[in-house]
Amino acid sequence: MTRLRSRLAGSNNAMGRGLLSVLSGDKLDDAVWEEVEDTLLGADLGVAATTEIVDGLKRRVQVDGSPSAEQLESWLHAELLAQVDPTMDRRIAASRIGDRPAVVMVVGVNGTGKTTTVGKLARVLVAEHKNVVLGAADTFRAAAADQLETWGARVGVPTVRSDKDGADPAAVAFDAVKQGIDGEADVVLVDTAGRLHNKVGLMDELSKVKRVIEKQSPIDECLLVLDATTGQNGMRQAEIFAQAVNVTGVVLTKLDGTAKGGIVVLVQRELGVPVKLVGLGEGADDLAPFDANAFVNAVLD
Ligand code: GDP
Repeated sequence: MTRLRSRLAGSNNAMGRGLLSVLSGDKLDDAVWEEVEDTLLGADLGVAATTEIVDGLKRRVQVDGSPSAEQLESWLHAELLAQVDPTMDRRIAASRIGDRPAVVMVVGVNGTGKTTTVGKLARVLVAEHKNVVLGAADTFRAAAADQLETWGARVGVPTVRSDKDGADPAAVAFDAVKQGIDGEADVVLVDTAGRLHNKVGLMDELSKVKRVIEKQSPIDECLLVLDATTGQNGMRQAEIFAQAVNVTGVVLTKLDGTAKGGIVVLVQRELGVPVKLVGLGEGADDLAPFDANAFVNAVLD
């Protein structure tokens, strides 16, 4: 988690420093609270969480009229941590369940970092000695299957794909899960297409992939990949995916490229599922489990 902290340091510190410098002024008047609100909103925490944090701080200040800067910092830490919710279960289903592999479907709009995330996740799981199968069910972008296969070769796991452009993504997903079952894999990771230009088409396609996978095995995890730099727009996309599949966790990518780390809070509130992994760069090692405490420390460091 030191890595998460240091990677976030450059981006999110602005928010922490801003908040703490505002709060450590002499008088906690309305102007100060407005500035705190603006900083939190500017970091994409959303209105509801921002209001709760500011109200929580105000309540604490009412009880203890003139808190020290350290006291304020520790209150802010507690309020932020409550919003990130450290009690959520953030484990990824990646071990055999009875006599079958865990099945993980990965969804998200093209360009959010879906294929890269599948590759990075495969690498993490292989390092944990898991037997992994990849399914390239993004059949509409020929390069997507090549990209996934390259990751597979890099980390030493098989990639199930179709050689035909525009092949049925559900059929590829089915074959990948079948190979996982037959080969007694620990986990099958299925990459999917995310062409958002046609919402109904996308939802129908994802629902079909889901249905066809479920002919052989339940889906244990459906990870939604969201680009942290897209803010509110990303949230709208998220809701569309959540209508099509049962999202169990979010991977927030490109957190290295934004000061808007508050999106973690917004995503969890709006979707009611935890952020489980964060993408912190384009490299193979740049995927980390999300740790609520480390995250808040990084923001306020
Ligand atoms: P897909 O279309 O959703 O499968 O997206 P890709 O996996 O092809 O990724 C799109 C671009 O985002 C690529 O250039 C990736 O290297 C980049 N990318 C993915 N994850 C991250 C991340 O966590 N941080 C940064 N900076 N770039 C990322």
